[in-house]
Amino acid sequence: MLQFNKMWKFKNGLYYEEEFKKEGVKNFSTTASLGDMKSEKNRKNLLEKYFGNDVIICGEQVHSDNIRIVTGADAGKILSQTDGLITREKGVVLAVFTADCLPVFIFDKVKKIIGLVHAGRAGLSKLIVSKAIDIFVKNFGSNSLNIYAAIGPHICKQCYNTDLDAMAERQLKKTGVSNISNSNLCTYTSDFFSYRKTKTSERIISLMMMEAK
Ligand SMILES: [Zn+2]
Repeated sequence: MLQFNKMWKFKNGLYYEEEFKKEGVKNFSTTASLGDMKSEKNRKNLLEKYFGNDVIICGEQVHSDNIRIVTGADAGKILSQTDGLITREKGVVLAVFTADCLPVFIFDKVKKIIGLVHAGRAGLSKLIVSKAIDIFVKNFGSNSLNIYAAIGPHICKQCYNTDLDAMAERQLKKTGVSNISNSNLCTYTSDFFSYRKTKTSERIISLMMMEAK
């Protein structure tokens, strides 16, 4: 099995998994200090600074288990009834908006496939994380032993009556993914937006892109 050095880091208001970055996969989740990422202006600033373009692909995020394989042709789209995105294309920016739910970053280091999933209680109950891994394996021939998964900021079990990250981790392990890096960052108690705490409409954004090398 490939070794995965789990290491979430923090810089300029962004949390990111260092191991993904080292592999040429840009990834991060924002903090509240960078503002509401539902705001186009805030998002544009951020994307231009770190990705050199402000065109993302995101899903409508309806707490479904629908996952789409996307390409550059989908850039700029909000895909209806979608909570998970997977691509093999470099330069395609996947995005997920959250305020307590889990952003789950997935990367096959050998096949060079990335995925980003929005997973709340409903999506996890529908096994969205397992289903994302199934697509890696069935559609792209991934070996789950080569897949790394990272769980971004989310509400923790002390602040919510459900252990969401444990549900996600169980689904990963069940599908053979053992390289799991949980940020263990709580959206309720730290510098994020928490729907449970304030019923806010504000969201942090999680972004993921394979760099062209
Ligand atoms: Zn908490």
